[in-house]
Formats: sequence, structure tokens, C-alpha cells
Amino acid sequence: MKFLRFYYKDKIKTGYFDGKKVIELDDSIEKVLNSWDGGKYLENKMKNSYSLENISFTPPIIPSKIVCIGLNYKDHANELQMEIPDEPKLFLKPPSAVIGHNEIISYPPSSNEVDYEGELAIVMRKSGKNLSFEEVNEYIGGYTILNDVTARDLQRKDEQWTRAKSFDTFAPIGPFIQTEMNPNRQNISLKVNGKIKQRSNTKNMIFTVEELVEFISNIMTLNPGDIIATGTPSGVGEMKSGDIVEVAIEDIGILKNKIV
Ligand code: MG
Repeated sequence: MKFLRFYYKDKIKTGYFDGKKVIELDDSIEKVLNSWDGGKYLENKMKNSYSLENISFTPPIIPSKIVCIGLNYKDHANELQMEIPDEPKLFLKPPSAVIGHNEIISYPPSSNEVDYEGELAIVMRKSGKNLSFEEVNEYIGGYTILNDVTARDLQRKDEQWTRAKSFDTFAPIGPFIQTEMNPNRQNISLKVNGKIKQRSNTKNMIFTVEELVEFISNIMTLNPGDIIATGTPSGVGEMKSGDIVEVAIEDIGILKNKIV
């Protein structure tokens, strides 16, 4: 199921997209993800329906933290001539950086080199700590798309990543949270102004979704709504002001944003 949050007449609502229309649900997205049972739960939750043209997207969820993986695709490691890491390399992006589908990425005046990084993102549904590999799927609510926008010049200058990764609008997510898909077998691609820049499959990830959640939950408690961005494939590059960037993941959809 493709769940989302959206604006309709200045109110934020939760719903799902049935392929044609958005059906409003009488619950928060956190409650929906935590209660989703494959069907029955929806029976007395459905309210009005809307066509896509009459709504605008908001971020599908607001996380308490976004945990990101630094290098997680074999093709990207080869491109950078870097060794395959033996453990995931982690960093954080702040929740204040989150924007939704179709919202504007703002180009910060302090940078001259802003890059896109198209990524699959895990969305947690329950609070979890010290999870085992076997337990993690019970705690995952679904999957969305994240563009890990990065001020590359500031990342090099600072030698650590907080400033470069944390500007407001540097974490576009959405458009949907997909609850039914195989996260480790998804085609992922990214276009700038309609031209393909990144193309891979999540099967090329060094650490699988389950391995990442297990690893991270043994460091920090993962809260409902928290997001784990699973790293970007090869083909990372720059965006210029005015560019339109689109990240596509097979079973989720397309996350589109303009940078200005
Ligand atoms: Mg990244």
C-alpha cells in the first residue's frame, strides 16, 4: 500500500493512493503504519477521496532522526576506488532538513557545489533497540525515497559532514511510504532535467536493509517514524539552480524536486 500525507485546503491529512485517487484515512501516519495489517484495519477508517490534482504532497512522515549510510553500493565504492567497508559508516541528517515531493530545495549561499544522492529510505513503525536480524522486519513500517542533498565543497572543507548534509530542505522524502515491497531487489534511478544520472538496483547494496536496521538499533533506539537512508549508487553529481531532480524507485514512485 502507498501511504502518504497531503495538504487539502491548508489542512494536513493522511491517506493512501489506490493508483487513481487519494483516499483519506482517519488516523495519523504513525498510527496507520503501526496498525497496518494488510487490509482489515482500513475498513472503518476511510473518509473522503481526492484526485491527485487537488492535493499537494507533504513529507509522508516527520522523523525524530534520519540515520544515513555513507558508502553502501558496490558500484559507488568501485567508482570512488574505495575498499568495501566491513561495517556501515553512519551519519545523521536533522529532521529540520525534511521537505516533501514537489517542494523546493534551496541552494545555500555558502556553497558552490550541491550534489544529489538518490537513496532508498527505511521508515520505522515501532520503537526498537538491540534488534536481532530476525526481528527487524517487525519494526519496519515501509519504504520511501530520499534525496541526500549534500554541499560537497563544505563536506571536503569541514572534513566532517554535519554542515554539508544539514541545510534546511536538504532531505526531500516521499512521495509515498510503500508497505509491501522487497527492499533488496528494487531498481533505483535518478534524473536531472530528464537525463539519467544514476541507475542501479538495491541488490548492489553492501549491507542489506535488515543488516542496517540491526546494526543501527544496537547503537541507538529507533523511534516510530525514524528514517534510515541506505546510501547512494554510482553517478553522484551536481545540481544547478533551476534544475529538476527526480529519484525513482520501482515499487514506490518518483520523488521530484526543483533546486533554486
Ligand atoms: Mg548519501
